[in-house]
Order: sequence, then structure tokens, then C-alpha cells
Amino acid sequence: MTEQNSFNLIVIGGGSGGLAAAQRAAGYGTRVAVVEAGRLGGTCVNVGCVPKKIMWNAASTAHTLHDAAGYGFDTTAFRHDWSALKSRRDAYVARLNGIYAQNLANKDIEYIAGFGVLEGSNCVRVGERLLTAERVLIAVGGAPIVPDLPGAELGITSDGFFALDTLPGRVAMVGSGYIAVELSGMLRALGAEVDLLVRYDSVLRSFDEMLQQSVVTAMMADGIGLQRRAVPTGIEQADDGLILTTEDGNRHGPYDSLIWCIGRHALTETLGLESAGVALDDKGFIITDEFQVTSNPAIFAVGDVTGRAALTPVAIAAGRRLADRLYGGMPDRRLDYANIATVVFTHPPAGTCGLTERQAREQYGEDVFVYSSEFVPMINSFTEHRTKASMKLITVGKDQRVVGVHLFGPGADEMLQGFAVAIRMGATKQDFDDTVAIHPTSAEELVTMR
Ligand SMILES: Cc1cc2nc3c(=O)[nH]c(=O)nc-3n(C[C@H](O)[C@H](O)[C@H](O)COP(=O)(O)OP(=O)(O)OC[C@H]3O[C@@H](n4cnc5c(N)ncnc54)[C@H](O)[C@@H]3O)c2cc1C
Repeated sequence: MTEQNSFNLIVIGGGSGGLAAAQRAAGYGTRVAVVEAGRLGGTCVNVGCVPKKIMWNAASTAHTLHDAAGYGFDTTAFRHDWSALKSRRDAYVARLNGIYAQNLANKDIEYIAGFGVLEGSNCVRVGERLLTAERVLIAVGGAPIVPDLPGAELGITSDGFFALDTLPGRVAMVGSGYIAVELSGMLRALGAEVDLLVRYDSVLRSFDEMLQQSVVTAMMADGIGLQRRAVPTGIEQADDGLILTTEDGNRHGPYDSLIWCIGRHALTETLGLESAGVALDDKGFIITDEFQVTSNPAIFAVGDVTGRAALTPVAIAAGRRLADRLYGGMPDRRLDYANIATVVFTHPPAGTCGLTERQAREQYGEDVFVYSSEFVPMINSFTEHRTKASMKLITVGKDQRVVGVHLFGPGADEMLQGFAVAIRMGATKQDFDDTVAIHPTSAEELVTMR
């Protein structure tokens, strides 16, 4: 059979955004190729959301077992087998990889395994093969940053975390973003000693201050060692483990594992973007307009590579809307990046949608009114740590339109989605007040705030 090398759309990157766009475009009768250098499904499926949520589920189970004593259970003999969990997790992910490949085949999308490089506006080289297309979509995502420090290679990243065959006993987690916080919580719950080293004073610094505080309090109660103002200068291999040195002259450790969680960079360096005149910002992300168009009108970009709201559902939504616009006869279709809800899978989880209090005050000044509440949820009234839940509603204007919801506590992850719909629809505090509560739940607090 002769190879077909000419397409309507070539998608470089078979992760969340690329696959979503490719499948939606193919559904409109478009001839599509997906070029993927690694495993289908991208970051989310292989080294992101999916394996992470499995680890979070395991860690949550550990918390439940620990807390069960408060409910009268004898939980003295409890052991966890990390490698058994890892085998099952890897098998689950491999199954998903297979399902993604099948989905492409079902839609007559050509899946080309290999590294794609642009050669001008309409050509993509994959090894020996030169493909052409009317349009190219770049959805190559990103990769973890490893700092340029002596001994940095002795550490691993979140990718390495998912490759660990056994639980490391002593861990240094470097970073303060959601991935650092989440992985710290999982390792701690499953039995590791964890130091979380942060550059400034807090974690999750782009989140509402109430959430930052609640997460820090819960992590410290769980025994995570928070090392503030710890700026790494290097790592050494000592006889008994890794030693991390910091700017203040401190030596931290020894550790069995050090995990860099200091951000992610876009995979744009070797893509051949200059051959097609695709412009990058100063951090290496592809600049796109509101319709995901790059500086070359035949080339588009979605997902993490654009540096906007690096989340799977965002990449998927941007990809699908782009395909609707280009091939589905919907000329105005585009993703609205405002009010995207997101959850940090801490123990308990934290969720946020809309503006933080600080952002609201910067934007609306005196017009902001804030409702907040802190309480011990009923489930925690019987547990060793009486971890408090915290909730905040940010409202603006005379009609008190709700522009921000921030939640921390059991069930916050599942609670938030519905409230995100309400915010999107422009709900006011009165709408919240007029909604009859569900009792007894934590969620009822949100419709009974005074
Ligand atoms: C540890 C971790 C946890 C996360 N947890 C969550 C979560 O809970 N919820 C959430 O919404 N998001 C989460 N994310 C973020 C989420 O995974 C990303 O936002 C999402 O995967 C981005 O999708 P994408 O399509 O832009 O890129 P990716 O999914 O990264 O896909 C890009 C693909 O392009 C391929 N590629 C790169 N260069 C080339 C090339 N030149 N040629 C061919 N192929 C190429 C890569 O191999 C990759 O498969 C998490 C991320 C991490 C790292």
C-alpha cells in the first residue's frame, strides 16, 4: 500500500489537546494525521492527571484507614505495597494507550509514530517521511524543568516519580506549585518522610490566600516538613543519601529521592518553528490569539504549549472548539479562558474557580464583598486531626455577583464543578441564598453563608 502523505490537517502531538482536535476534525470529514513522538494520550494519561489521581486515591485510602480508628475500627495492621500498585497503575495506563490508538483508527485518522518537525508552513517531517497539509496544529505540550545546578541530575521530576518502583523513605520535594504539593501529600500518606522546600513563604502562591493557609496547615499536621525560603544551590551524593544545599548555607537531607517540581517548559526548541515564522514569547511558549492562531495563519496551537491554563480539559476544549471553527461551520467558536475551575489534589482537596480575593480587590476595589467560613466537617469530628474545611465566596457590585469560589475540605473536588456552572451563568449571592441546602453536608455551607 502506498503511503498517503497529504492531509487537510496535521496535528503534532497526540496528547489531550491534539487528540481532541484531531477526532473532532475527522468527525467533520477532514483528512487528519496525528504525529506522536511518545505514548498516545500525552502527559495527562501517561505522567500526569491519570496516574496521579490513582496515587491520590491510594493516599486518600491511607488517610481513611488512619481515620477509621476514630470510628471504632482496629487499624493497627496496615501495610501498603507500592510496587503492586505501580504494576496495576501501569497496566491501566497501557490499556488507555490502546484505547486511544483504536479511537484514531475508528475515525480514519492516520497515527504516525515519530518526532514531527516543521519544514515551512505546510510541511512536517517525521524521520524519512515528509507530510504536507493545508493546516498544522501544534499540541506538543511541555516537560518538567530541571534547574541548571551542580548535581541537579541526581534528582528526578514528576515523570521520575511515576517510574518509582518502590516508595522512597526520605524525600525532598522542591517547588511550591500544585504538582509539588500533591506529590508531597501522596508520598507522605503512603509512608515517606517528606521535606517540601519552597523558595518563598507559602505554597500555591497564585491561589487565594485562604487556600494557601489551609493547605499549609493540613500538610504540616500530616507531618510534611515545610522548609521556607529554601533556594537550592546544588545536590551532592553522600554515603547515606542525597544532600541538598541552599542559598542560606543550610544542608538538607540525607534523602533517598529528590524531586524537582519547579515548573514546566514548552517543547518548542526543536520543532522547526522558525522555518514557519511561528513566534514564541519570552518563556518559549507559542503566542496564539483568541482563536488559537499563531503568527502564521496556517498554523495553530492549543494546550500547554501556549502557556495558558495548563490543564487537560482546557487543552481538550481549545482543540475541539478550534476544529468546530475550522471544519464545523462555526466561525465564532473559541474557548473563553475565564472562570476555569481547577482542583488541587491535596488531603483534603482544594478547589478554586474565578477571582481570588486579591485579584477581585485589584479589579473592583471597594465593590468587593467577601463571605468566608471555617469549620470542622462532621467526618473530621471523630478523627485524630480535626482538619478544618474552609470556604470563601467573592462577590462584586450591588447585586453581589459571585466572581470567585474557593473551597478546601472533604469533597471539595466534586463540589466545585456545579458551582463553576453557577459562576459562569452570573449567579448572585441571592441565588446562592435562595437555593435550599442539602443537609448534612459540607456543601450546604456555601448556600448558608452570612
Ligand atoms: C504530574 C502532573 C499532574 C497533572 N494533573 C492534572 C490534573 O489533575 N488535571 C488537569 O487538568 N491537568 C493536570 N495536569 C496537566 C495536564 O497533563 C496537561 O495540561 C495536559 O496534558 C496538556 O495537554 P497537551 O495536549 O497540551 O499536551 P500533552 O498532553 O503534554 O501532549 C503533548 C504530546 O506531544 C508529544 N510531542 C512533543 N513534541 C513532539 C514532536 N515534536 N513530535 C511529535 N510529538 C511530540 C508528546 O510526546 C506528548 O505526547 C498534570 C500534569 C502533570 C505533569
